[in-house]
Amino acid sequence: MFLSISTTHRPATDLGFLLMKHPERMHEVEVGFGKAVVFYPIATDERCEAVLTLDVDPIGLVRGRGEAEGLLDQYVNDRPYAASSFLSVGLNRIFRTAMTGVSRERAELAAAKIPLVVKVCPLPVRGGEELLGTLFAPLGWKVSFERVEGPHGPSRYVSLTLEGEQRVAEALSHLYVLIPVLDDDKHYWSGDDEVEKLLAKAGAWLGTHPSKELIAKRYLKRRRLARMALARLASEDQAELEAPEVRQTREEALEAPVRLNDLRLDAVVEALAATGAKFVVDLGCGEGKLLGRLMRDRRFEKIVGLDASSRALETARDRLKLDMAGGPKRERVTLLHGALTYRDERWAGAEAVSLVEVIEHLDADRLPALEKAVFGVAQPKHVVVTTPNAEYNVLFEKLTAGAFRHPDHRFEWTRAEFAAWAGGVAERCGYAVSYAGVGEAHPEHGAPTQMAVFAR
Ligand code: SAH
Repeated sequence: MFLSISTTHRPATDLGFLLMKHPERMHEVEVGFGKAVVFYPIATDERCEAVLTLDVDPIGLVRGRGEAEGLLDQYVNDRPYAASSFLSVGLNRIFRTAMTGVSRERAELAAAKIPLVVKVCPLPVRGGEELLGTLFAPLGWKVSFERVEGPHGPSRYVSLTLEGEQRVAEALSHLYVLIPVLDDDKHYWSGDDEVEKLLAKAGAWLGTHPSKELIAKRYLKRRRLARMALARLASEDQAELEAPEVRQTREEALEAPVRLNDLRLDAVVEALAATGAKFVVDLGCGEGKLLGRLMRDRRFEKIVGLDASSRALETARDRLKLDMAGGPKRERVTLLHGALTYRDERWAGAEAVSLVEVIEHLDADRLPALEKAVFGVAQPKHVVVTTPNAEYNVLFEKLTAGAFRHPDHRFEWTRAEFAAWAGGVAERCGYAVSYAGVGEAHPEHGAPTQMAVFAR
């Protein structure tokens, strides 16, 4: 397998300074599973090309388990030949300093974009050829490739060519991250420090890449790690796409004596029905308890549930018997994975929206984003919001003074605090708002749950 990087920037031999490998020599590095070699077949003022090849030792690969950077779980036949995770490891090893983008001799050039052509061959492409464009084009590369012919026709390998004006360090980081993404095979990386590595190598461009989720998932393979990486990338909103798993049990146990959950859901169903809405959306639907009630009520013709937690959505799907014989029709009930702090065309046209025990799970500084997405952009005719009434907490015997009802709550508001927020939203976004308590009200502390109904 080989990877070549060439430039026509003058003098082209400056590429040697950027890669920190002298064009006149051959460079070899041991990489645990073999040898990485860099040499320059062409090094003139007009054109300079550096080639990286990997000499993978298939026996060492198996025998070497337990050593070096990490280990192969399973020996896969094409490993020694294909441009895969190994190439990425080799790249990182031999161009480690170059990838930092700092050059003592050519500081300005290292920071500049220069014309580059990159070739990688043979590159296994799983997930279709269009993936090449999806991954590389947003980063400013012109992508072309040729399918490598195998003994029985076209193989699953391509010879990839990328052309573009790029910083050398950034180009290396694209390859370092995206080659394993294309490969998407079992590779031997594991461990949480992979997230750190991914962000260290790709943080700058991955955060704005339209396919960053796909990249993080395939790169890190295990979902848990992908989630952490996305949360860390959190160009603010994305973090919520993978909001923390919310387990209702503790809060439910606490509120059970007042049957609060049932009362609350009944109150919300009635509030939604009172608006006359036929198309309703439950934002932060969790495991779908409200959706279940809405489904049983023929007044609602189209029902959408949205949540950031795919786990919760899976539970909802089972509970509501979606996609099952005898279950609801797909046109009537839909679940969406998404963030409620984003405008989301998938539920455009909703007449009424509910946010049941959701806002207190958002960091207070994300509330303006929610306000914009829901009240500012989607602008349903009605919005029903419920949240705990913090004043009531003193009446829960089992709750430590000052504690929240659920560990994931970011705040719990008094009635005045809720009214201050809701009143502000209504004023800014052109709604009228009314308030109600849910559950038996205490003369001084009020009802356990507070509800606001917005109307436009
Ligand atoms: N409404 C449900 C669940 C409330 S728990 C009920 O009353 O039972 C809060 C829910 O909001 C969780 O399921 C959580 O995953 C979801 N959530 C939190 N932040 C979110 C965000 N930014 N976007 C979408 N959902 C979010």
